[in-house]
Amino acid sequence: MTRLLTLLLFFLIVFSTFGQQLSYEEVKQLEMVVPDRQNSQWAKNQPYVVMLSIDGFRHDYAEMYQAKNILSVAKNGVSTQSLIASFPTKTFPNHYTLVTGLYPGNHGLVSNEFYSREKDYWYKIRDKSAVQDGSWYGGVPLWTLAEQQGMLSANFFWVGSEAPIGGSLSTYSYQYNSGVSNQHRVQRILDWLQMPPEIRPHMILGYFSLVDDAGHRYGPEHAKTKEAVLRIDELVGQLIRGLEKLNLPVHIVLVSDHGMSTITNGMVLPEMIDLEDAKVSYSFPPMIYQSDSAKLERLYDQLLQIEGLYVYRQEQVPNYLHFSNRDRIGDLVLMTDAPTIIMEKPQVVTGGTHGFDPYADRDMGAIFYGQGPLFKSGVEISPVENIHIYPLIAEILGLKITEPIDGKLEMMDYLLSKAEN
Ligand code: AMP
Ligand code: ZN
Ligand code: ZN
Repeated sequence: MTRLLTLLLFFLIVFSTFGQQLSYEEVKQLEMVVPDRQNSQWAKNQPYVVMLSIDGFRHDYAEMYQAKNILSVAKNGVSTQSLIASFPTKTFPNHYTLVTGLYPGNHGLVSNEFYSREKDYWYKIRDKSAVQDGSWYGGVPLWTLAEQQGMLSANFFWVGSEAPIGGSLSTYSYQYNSGVSNQHRVQRILDWLQMPPEIRPHMILGYFSLVDDAGHRYGPEHAKTKEAVLRIDELVGQLIRGLEKLNLPVHIVLVSDHGMSTITNGMVLPEMIDLEDAKVSYSFPPMIYQSDSAKLERLYDQLLQIEGLYVYRQEQVPNYLHFSNRDRIGDLVLMTDAPTIIMEKPQVVTGGTHGFDPYADRDMGAIFYGQGPLFKSGVEISPVENIHIYPLIAEILGLKITEPIDGKLEMMDYLLSKAEN
């Protein structure tokens, strides 16, 4: 009987805390702080950048749903008609491209889920041991660049921020935890900016998943997705009003990693396709790793017969996608056009997704909006690739780029007010 009561009590506690969000005090306790770091004298005189990622915020959402605070950033500052996501148009590859200026093949996060032949191990976004292992991540993320040059950074959940890349973390960072409310993330950013100048971060990154979550579940055109867009818009408004009170030279940069397409069909590979001893990443678009060349040839020939499926050998992926990495890309890459996806098992397909060719599907287009003292006012430029964000942010903060990157400052420096001189 006592055992039954204990069990009952246990379930009561579990269910009462399930889905519950942490208090602000609890959130602060989770913060990881690298001790004994201070801004250099030079860094203290540099401006600030708060770069927020709104996952899955499609290029046309702000207009479509009249997100007035986000539109005001574009009106008072700068924007691109669309920000061209890198292939594959997934969360991890693109977040890490935004902060390294490298295509996914070149920084190494080639999907949300992929296999490394060299390590003989999988990287999966839910495997903390891989996510927190710095050896998976190439390039020099913006926060590492800042810290290396004597400027403190803070990080609320940007992809890669849990791993010591180049040997260290942002001065302030968190392990990914969806129990931290969006409101508290904004509050923390405002509080970081009110720390004493010696320890106040100049490069701040934040991440919000609510728009992507709604887009997947309901599709990009649904009222619930509109609701998520308007909720994030409200948070952006709070951030803008909070920043106005601080009287600091802060640049707000709003970006997303990719857009969202409506999906209606799921393709399951026919049973005759023998994947028995192959490794398969089903993170859309799927990749197949098969080291036996005879089996690989057979697979390739069979897959070619399937209508509506594009099959590429690793070295045949079209050049314009800049997708090359011998260690981590599958021997075969499979693609489809929206509204069709490839699935492991038959399931009802509704709502939305991303992962499609960013040039074939305009709905993969993401956002870039920026406002602040070094940005021009009311300037919009044609679509640009997201590899160019890195040199732009480095320029604003006065950071020197120390390693080769794919992005180029000249693709975006027209947006900076000093470019007029
Ligand atoms: P996807 O839409 O599959 O490309 O991935 C989006 C999902 O990635 C979001 O719903 C988040 O929950 C998850 N996500 C985003 N950032 C992180 C992170 N740093 N660690 C673990 N999961 C994350
Ligand atoms: Zn995403
Ligand atoms: Zn998503």
